[in-house]
Amino acid sequence: MIKKDKTPMISPDEAVALVLGQSFLMGIETVPLLEAAFRFLATDIISDVDIPPFDNSAMDGFALVASAIRGASKENPVSLPITGEAKAGDMETKVSSQSAIRIMTGAMLPSGADTVVPVEDTSESDGMAIFYGSAKPGANIRRAGEDIRRGMKVLRRGDRITPAVMGILASLNIPRVEVFKKPDIAIIATGDELAEPGTELLPGHIRNSNAYALYGEVLKCGGTPHYLGIARDSREDTERLLQEASRCDIIITTGGVSMGEYDFVPEVLTALGVHIIFETVKMKPGKPCIFGVSHVHDAKKLFFGLPGNPVSSLVSFMQFVRPALLSLMGARKIRKPEAHATLREKITKKKGRTHFVRGFFSIEGEKISVATTGPQGSGILRSMHEANCLIILPAEKEVFEAGEDVVIQLINHEEIE
Ligand code: AMP
Ligand code: MG
Repeated sequence: MIKKDKTPMISPDEAVALVLGQSFLMGIETVPLLEAAFRFLATDIISDVDIPPFDNSAMDGFALVASAIRGASKENPVSLPITGEAKAGDMETKVSSQSAIRIMTGAMLPSGADTVVPVEDTSESDGMAIFYGSAKPGANIRRAGEDIRRGMKVLRRGDRITPAVMGILASLNIPRVEVFKKPDIAIIATGDELAEPGTELLPGHIRNSNAYALYGEVLKCGGTPHYLGIARDSREDTERLLQEASRCDIIITTGGVSMGEYDFVPEVLTALGVHIIFETVKMKPGKPCIFGVSHVHDAKKLFFGLPGNPVSSLVSFMQFVRPALLSLMGARKIRKPEAHATLREKITKKKGRTHFVRGFFSIEGEKISVATTGPQGSGILRSMHEANCLIILPAEKEVFEAGEDVVIQLINHEEIE
């Protein structure tokens, strides 16, 4: 069979731009706060309350008027009668100018009080609190609204609902949250040689590892993965599974996109009406990598034909599928952070492709240095586990000396922009 002309090879940056150019927004749904964890806000959140709602004590101690103990010292302590107690949850109490109220952390500041002296700086005898130093007005008081002011835009559409955001939403009395729907992601493995974990391994066969690794990646991004199984190396089987997958929002295949006789993914995608936007990227690992779009009953679908080699499929997922998935979910931040690091060893490569080298960076003081994880074969999946970054080596450069500055992509760090 004569293979049709491929789309032009493009750079990884161009590929990301093309993918994001096709991205669309999932719909919105309202879910209970606990279910909103790690999803993305579909609306800005403007506070209609002050947090904290009232002035309260930051310490266990005594609330009083600072002027009452002006001039107190170790040598000349000042005693005040303890005229009441305020614990967290109590209604407001009152303090007169020459007395002290025993107060617990979080209790409403008694009216009249302008300072709290921590209990450890005092002593007590016969109903009197004894102070050994003066107090600053305002000390140890958490003011109403010092965290969040009424009317403030606290959170923005597209913010990830991190643990802190969960807490903020609870503080703001938002028990149900508007979030973007999670996209459904179909995962299809391809290859006659693949055996599922737990089944017999025939001679010449290997374990299907990619489907499981990609399943994990999808979960990590917040999508809902659907593993559809292995398409055997035939047009019919590939078509059968791709058709089944078309109910999902994003369809990922792995393998079957090289130039081999049994690489059916590109032609089946085309036969199914998928418009192929690119199919080769100037990168290593991951040169063959298909991206296409289709419309099924007006619903847009994104197709990613990832390479079969285990590292290639993961690196391609990270570079192209992850940003797409995040952008579908309305995320504001979809770029992994990059940093400059000093290379700890010499690396040489051929011209023409951007290399994503598995690396391990460490930070000493203000210096970041990076070493490779060792052999970079695209089947060496263990190195992906050992890596905490990808060293990005530009396409046109061949030699990178030890001590040179390189750019690393922090793959285990949250997106920053
Ligand atoms: P392909 O692009 O289908 O020729 O696959 C390239 C290489 O990746 C071959 O060595 C395949 O055996 C291997 N491979 C393909 N799919 C998987 C998979 N799901 N798990 C592990 N290795 C795979
Ligand atoms: Mg194959």
